Amino acid sequence: LLILGIESSCDETGVALVETRADGQVPALLSHALHSQIEMHQAYGGVVPELASRDHIRRVLPLASQVLGESGKHLSDVDVVAYTRGPGLAGALLVGAGVACALGAALGKPVLGVHHLEGHLLSPFLSADPPEFPFVALLVSGGHTQLMRVDGVGRYEILGETIDDAAGEAFDKSAKLMGLGYPGGPALSKLAEQGDATAFKLPRPLLHSGDLDFSFAGLKTAVLTQAKKLGDELEPRKADLAASTEAAIVEVLVKKTLAALKQTGMKRVVVAGGVGANRHLRKQLNEACAKNKVRVHYPELHLCTDNGAMIAMAAAMRLESGQQQASAEYAFDVKPRWPLDSITAAA
Ligand code: ATP
Ligand code: MG
Ligand code: FE
Repeated sequence: LLILGIESSCDETGVALVETRADGQVPALLSHALHSQIEMHQAYGGVVPELASRDHIRRVLPLASQVLGESGKHLSDVDVVAYTRGPGLAGALLVGAGVACALGAALGKPVLGVHHLEGHLLSPFLSADPPEFPFVALLVSGGHTQLMRVDGVGRYEILGETIDDAAGEAFDKSAKLMGLGYPGGPALSKLAEQGDATAFKLPRPLLHSGDLDFSFAGLKTAVLTQAKKLGDELEPRKADLAASTEAAIVEVLVKKTLAALKQTGMKRVVVAGGVGANRHLRKQLNEACAKNKVRVHYPELHLCTDNGAMIAMAAAMRLESGQQQASAEYAFDVKPRWPLDSITAAA
């Protein structure tokens, strides 16, 4: 099966082609293309939903032509058109869903709506070293922070999650108040490399809560308080504050992940979502996992943040596992709010 996947949940337009393969092999990524709107939204310090929707409209078909061209395929070769059904910005989701269903109807091929977080979750299957089920998943994106028990495609149990801000939000909000732009996660991480992570004592929220939940709102407030206290001294100490912030976020993520592994007795962990690109997180988690004889898998660096490849891959894996069938029903709805465990299939 040749699957065309379309992602448009937020500020990235992504399109990709994935092909299923014989006898249990992981589906193959043939080509993918991405247009990030970050530059367009930067002037506003955050994503402007209406601008996002309009830009998705401009980008999606040219990106589709590009991936077809690069893989030497024709539109008529596509067997299933997959799209992100939610969660995300309603207007942005409607563009991808509308285009996917219009293409499906025009081609006479079925369509399939995919959960954005399932896309992130399964994105490590696009890497050269794909994981095997079951595993613990640490999903750390711009809008979500969850630890999950994953027993197979569509078999997700949330073990713990953030009660307020996501890890990516903690990076972005801290970065913003340090004047590092939007989204500031990558910039904060880069600056942190030159800083002293022990320079400032910042809280490790819920580290000893005994459960697998997270909280990052208080950390952001602590960073703000520290920045205000520094006043004119902030500029020369910025790298130290960035390093201290990153260390606090990463320590909580790593320790809670280890606790989830202990609780489930699993020896495999998969990291997914934009924060999964963070170098300090990868280093600390790799060390902790090596010590505990746990295998750790990540998405390719460029596939940590939103992209079409993970949507096409999730669709392929749902179809192959029989979790979902593509549908020739072209009337669509989108789900701006959609908990991941609500798509869990009966075991
Ligand atoms: P969601 O998937 O929850 O709807 P999203 O799609 O906005 O949210 P992603 O695209 O997975 O989230 O990730 C974006 C987030 O990842 C941003 O918060 C960004 O700052 C963060 N991020 C990306 N690279 C890094 C990095 N190297 N270090 C820290 N954070 C990073
Ligand atoms: Mg994004
Ligand atoms: Fe995302």
